Amino acid sequence: MQEFVLLQPASAADAVAAARANGGKYIAGGTDLLQLMKDNVETPTRLVDLEPLGLSDIEADDTSLRIGAMARMSDIAAHRGVREGWPVISEALLASASPQVRNMGTLGGNLLQRTRCGYFRDTGFACNKREPGAGCPAIKGENRTLAILGGSEHCIATHASDLAVALMALDAVLDLRGFDGAQRQMPIGEFYRVPGDTPHVETALLPGELITAVTVPRSAAARNSRYLKLRDRASFEFALVSVAVAMDVADGSVRDVRLAAGGVGTRPWRLPEVEAELHGKHPTDAALREAASRAGEGAQPARQNGFKQTLLRGAVVRALQTSAA
Ligand code: SF4
Repeated sequence: MQEFVLLQPASAADAVAAARANGGKYIAGGTDLLQLMKDNVETPTRLVDLEPLGLSDIEADDTSLRIGAMARMSDIAAHRGVREGWPVISEALLASASPQVRNMGTLGGNLLQRTRCGYFRDTGFACNKREPGAGCPAIKGENRTLAILGGSEHCIATHASDLAVALMALDAVLDLRGFDGAQRQMPIGEFYRVPGDTPHVETALLPGELITAVTVPRSAAARNSRYLKLRDRASFEFALVSVAVAMDVADGSVRDVRLAAGGVGTRPWRLPEVEAELHGKHPTDAALREAASRAGEGAQPARQNGFKQTLLRGAVVRALQTSAA
């Protein structure tokens, strides 16, 4: 592993300044970054430790849920207000990683975790995301677990976070802190980028910019939200396909519905085509199946992952049935 200096800032302002001035990389729980450093995929010489900053409060009120970026995955999943008002968040977190990783992993780190594409994580292979212009062996190689939506000729890696899928369905907003105290808010739908010809640029974060919190609006749909994850083994695995659904049914018809999918896109993938099909409809089994048949429109599967489109549509049906029950 590359030797590094560990910086421990006293405030968020100091952290941003340290990251920007020294080219430092933020470290939170370290569950992803340390493994990437051991594998020489990441080789930072300065780490900026976010632990001293706090930023771990979880607060639910009448209008919203606000989670600090350093809140632990296990604490968020177990929080009573989260389980009651936004159950999809709790379910997505409990479907993620192992209990040990959830005890260390943070909200911010989870949202910024790197792809599980095997070529990216093995420096013996070329990879455009790791080294721009090097090539993408996944396009013609092992791509069973990779993306069918949002890919380009330069990268088809999936985004790995379950939590991001839930937050995408709930229209979460990120609080960002930049250099010189600049603060801004960004809807999560604008945060993740598709690879295009710059797959190494994964988010809209500016150099040194820090996620400090996430806010999620309270709604009837959020209260009736669920997460379904399909994977090769149930104990500890990333999603082949996952679906987050939040739905409000009033007077027999769908008043509000939001859906997002994981494991299929190069970023957490919203499914507006399914939402549009369901609005105002009576959620009969036939109506749910009809709407789900539109999931993943425009998909461009690679050689080994065409099965994901069928799996996605089945998962959307199941998630909607569970939410409508
Ligand atoms: Fe790298 Fe993306 Fe290709 Fe995987 S799919 S090898 S991450 S460029």
